[in-house]
Amino acid sequence: MRRANWPRLLGLIVLCLWMISALAMAAPARKVTTFQSQVVTEGRQTFLRIEIGMNGPIKDYQVKGDGILNPNRLTIDIDHAEKGDVRAEIPLDRQFAKTLRFQETGNKLRITIGMQVPASEQNYRVYTLEKDRRAGKPHRLIIELYGEGGRRGHVAGLKGRTIVIDPGHGGTDSGAVGVGGLKEKDVTLEVSQKVREILENSGVKVVMTREDDRDVYGPTATDAQELQARVDYGNFTPNVDVFVSIHCDAYTTASSNGTSTYYYPKTWLDALLAQNLQDAMVEHGDRRDRGIHEARFYVCRHSAMPAALVELAFITNYVEGSLLADEDFQNEMAQGIAEGLANYFAVSGT
Ligand SMILES: [Zn+2]
Repeated sequence: MRRANWPRLLGLIVLCLWMISALAMAAPARKVTTFQSQVVTEGRQTFLRIEIGMNGPIKDYQVKGDGILNPNRLTIDIDHAEKGDVRAEIPLDRQFAKTLRFQETGNKLRITIGMQVPASEQNYRVYTLEKDRRAGKPHRLIIELYGEGGRRGHVAGLKGRTIVIDPGHGGTDSGAVGVGGLKEKDVTLEVSQKVREILENSGVKVVMTREDDRDVYGPTATDAQELQARVDYGNFTPNVDVFVSIHCDAYTTASSNGTSTYYYPKTWLDALLAQNLQDAMVEHGDRRDRGIHEARFYVCRHSAMPAALVELAFITNYVEGSLLADEDFQNEMAQGIAEGLANYFAVSGT
């Protein structure tokens, strides 16, 4: 009797396994329902935007680029998805990519794109959008491909960081006043907002000590209270990596010019941060390199983390004063600061 049960038991197990696999296969997979690609220009950036519509929410997907054998190949695997009725291979705008291929592997749908530039973080962006009934749009996977020079306002190697940006002066304190009545507090805020945008695009949590024209502590504060209020933003926010204060230089002689960065050596990292910011600002802004200097600036000394104070250029110099008010120069300096931060994290190993 005992021996006779074995085949039945085995049969039962096989039946169970078959049912489980049948159930798994019968689970409704998402299908591609729509495909669109178009060249888009937003601001100064032109890119290829691909919209892949599906008949269900796109929750799990993996993006892979930067391959060793095929550096220009971008691969996106969507779990529990099928190709549907779209073509298996679709030609794309050749300025950005050659083709897009759909391929079903197991229960995944693999999307492979042959880009014209290396498939690295700064050259593409992948995200999902929910179904939009009003616009008549399905659940979508959006793939943006950028050409030579990569995504503007995005810097690789900053993702996951927390950074404090301190726009110098504000409110009752104008800071230095330069050529044509240009106020330091306005320039520092404009550049800081541009830095913030680049950092946030790059996956950074940005803490701003002020976001508009105001005194951070209050109009009647002492200098120490005002500066401590700025330092507190960094010291009371968890896991802040660095503190960067943004200023414009000024001098009594109008001929003084150039970019410089100050630090207080709490550890060896302060000077390293200052040097990386300085180098990238000079590279982008193309002003005279006045170097980095040790100084007892309040915000640098009292910040618990590595800190630096940058002097973008001289607001009292005729040429630099007009540059500081110029949107393109502000963008370049903001890009320089963001790249300087990325270089600092890369070399400091922190
Ligand atoms: Zn200042």
